[in-house]
Amino acid sequence: MRTANLRGRLVLVDGEMAVDVAEASGGRFPADPQAVFSEWDAFRGWAATQDATTGTPFAVEDLGPPVPRPAQVFAIGINYTEHAREAGYPPDSAPVTFTKFPSCLAGPVSDVELPSDTVDWEVEAVVAVARETRRVRRENAWDHVAGITLGQDLSERTSQLAGSKPQFSLAKSFPGFGPTGPWLVTPDEFDDPADLAISCSLSGETMQSARTSAMIYDVPELLVRLSRVCRLFPGDLIFTGTPPGVGNARTPKRFVRPGEVLVSELEGVGRIIQRFVAGDAP
Ligand code: ZN
Repeated sequence: MRTANLRGRLVLVDGEMAVDVAEASGGRFPADPQAVFSEWDAFRGWAATQDATTGTPFAVEDLGPPVPRPAQVFAIGINYTEHAREAGYPPDSAPVTFTKFPSCLAGPVSDVELPSDTVDWEVEAVVAVARETRRVRRENAWDHVAGITLGQDLSERTSQLAGSKPQFSLAKSFPGFGPTGPWLVTPDEFDDPADLAISCSLSGETMQSARTSAMIYDVPELLVRLSRVCRLFPGDLIFTGTPPGVGNARTPKRFVRPGEVLVSELEGVGRIIQRFVAGDAP
């Protein structure tokens, strides 16, 4: 099952067609793409009876973030060994957790204002939480995943590295710095939801290309560790970390320039496209 946010309304997607959930369900399920997570299991049961190919065509430019207002957005740094190495961390570094403030979320096709000339890309698989989760066991963890989507953890490296400690959360939360989409795909849609090709290209040059199976902490392990501390809510998001190839680790460093286009892809999900424009300094 694929769900998306079409002009603020929850839709089921199949190919190039979409069905409006509130209309098709006679109001049984909400139009709000965020509200549906409070009754995710019932919604999935109903959605299994629907055929979205009978819907109407839509334009991906009209899609918003598939999970628009999560109560919590967890983001994981240093979750691929080769990225830890390029970022200058020791090989035995444990992944770190920060947040992207929800106001940075955007849809799959967006313009992003550049607050500086040191904005970097980080393509990431993003998972949405299906139910309230506390101290989940590893063997049950995938049952707590509503779906997988694609995201960019856009990062402003100057403010990230300006203080005595890195300011991950703040520097990764400028408006539009959390594009996600194009839709949320339930785990059963994948042959193996833990092993997906993930990549991004800037101005046509491939910058990152890896498989999500290379994560140090895989999705079940992230849910175990996060829910050991926090209560996770339905519709929370977890950015699962980026593979190697970020611009800040290159020689010379390479950052996004106004006018450039970043295309990110995740196997079994699709692609998101960000175009960058000059903005005001922070
Ligand atoms: Zn990241």
